[in-house]
Amino acid sequence: MNETSLKKTLSKINIGGLRWFDSIGSTNDEALAWAAAGADDLSIVIADEQTQGRGRLNRRWFTPKGSALAFSLILRPSAALRPHLSRTVGLAALSIADSLTQTRLAPRIKWPNDILLNGKKTAGILVESVWSGEDVDSLVIGMGINVFRDSVPPADVLQFPATSLEEMLGSIPHAREEILLSILEAFIRWRERMGSDELIHAWEEMLSFRGEQVEVKAGGETPVTGKVDGLESDGSLRLKDLHDNSVIVRFGDVSLRPMA
Ligand code: ADP
Repeated sequence: MNETSLKKTLSKINIGGLRWFDSIGSTNDEALAWAAAGADDLSIVIADEQTQGRGRLNRRWFTPKGSALAFSLILRPSAALRPHLSRTVGLAALSIADSLTQTRLAPRIKWPNDILLNGKKTAGILVESVWSGEDVDSLVIGMGINVFRDSVPPADVLQFPATSLEEMLGSIPHAREEILLSILEAFIRWRERMGSDELIHAWEEMLSFRGEQVEVKAGGETPVTGKVDGLESDGSLRLKDLHDNSVIVRFGDVSLRPMA
């Protein structure tokens, strides 16, 4: 993958600008600065390596050179999309999941921000905002997809098992830019339906651990436990507790784990 091959592949769709880096600290940092400086809608920052890739709560996201797809997409929400911005992480997760489904894989979304294959983390999403006073000016959606085996961090740094597309498929049938193209095509399709019930249903269908007992931790608070039931219309997670009451888990820096 290089700038020329990327530009050629992405010429099939309408994106904003494109910034390619052999190596960068974090694509989200570059995209946040570019968004604040007025980047167009659907502008993309993409790198072959991230040296300071971020997960949530400043946890690290590994992107060794040549091994992964790491990019950040800048969104300038229209007035029609503004009421639905809490669905952004779902929009991104569904786009990755749709693209992986096309390569005969069976992805699941670990709410809120990870994509699992065979119960192992294969992709992560980090959504950040640029504010203008009290309004969201733009959103930056960072996506990291483990393509080749080298992208998977050593087991001792992982809090959750991880895998790569190569490990799951045996080999990688498409160049990384083709995988990017199919994610962006799915993203553009789903964004047109961002406010629809269809998006929530498709996202719900993809949830991992549905009907299973999980534990959701938020910071230092007591963990919430229950069976994964579904999603509320804003994308919040609905669990059922032991008494069959609904418990709603809102976004935030929460971590969901299956219970033994
Ligand atoms: P979670 O959603 O599991 O709470 P984050 O979304 O914040 O975690 O992602 C960061 C965590 O993901 C890191 O702490 C690390 O354990 C794990 N991680 C880092 N890089 C990768 C990668 N390339 N593939 C899978 N897991 C990773």
